[in-house]
Amino acid sequence: MNLYIATNNQHKVDEIKAVLSSDDLNVYSASELDGMPYVDETENTFNGNALLKAKALAAQLVDPNGYVLADDSGLMVNVLGGEPGVCSARYAGENASDDDNCKKLLNALKSANKQSPYTARFVCSLVMLNGKGELHACEGTSEGEIVFDAKGENGFGYDPIFKPNGFSKTMAELTPGEKNAISHRGNALKKLKQLLSGI
Ligand code: IMP
Repeated sequence: MNLYIATNNQHKVDEIKAVLSSDDLNVYSASELDGMPYVDETENTFNGNALLKAKALAAQLVDPNGYVLADDSGLMVNVLGGEPGVCSARYAGENASDDDNCKKLLNALKSANKQSPYTARFVCSLVMLNGKGELHACEGTSEGEIVFDAKGENGFGYDPIFKPNGFSKTMAELTPGEKNAISHRGNALKKLKQLLSGI
């Protein structure tokens, strides 16, 4: 079975391939095809935006037996009313870097003038489509808190300022294997593996 990942984000590709690739499942990224078409993420749910991405790649897929998998994910901070949420990638502007987004988030927390801990959760919504348009969807979360002392070089996005519950390290200090064992994406992928075993 061939599965094509609807993203340009190499970090997501690496995390997804590490969990899903097997003798029975060949996992490819959109960049191994003609690239990921541009998608305007107009929905206000992770699931809605994942579906937009999956449909966009499925529309240009030539492999009749291929499946498409899209990931829409982000960080929800409780004292910020769930922000940055579906806008996580573009929180500090359309072409914002991970560093810009982290800085904006820490400034927003300072302005909120609330006591720590700043509880937060990562959310990952996965949508899988096949050539006939049949759909599978699942979601994973990872609970933790935001810390002002950014640490770690691994991962991406808000990982250096997110401390998962039960750890004294940030997500960016975890090895890829440790992150996948407890992350929103790893948790969603475990559910997807269950679904795939029944196909
Ligand atoms: P998307 O590509 O539209 O799904 O936006 C994902 C954004 O959410 C990323 O650019 C990061 O800012 C954030 N994000 C999602 N997953 C992670 C993660 O595993 N670690 C850190 N940040 C993440």
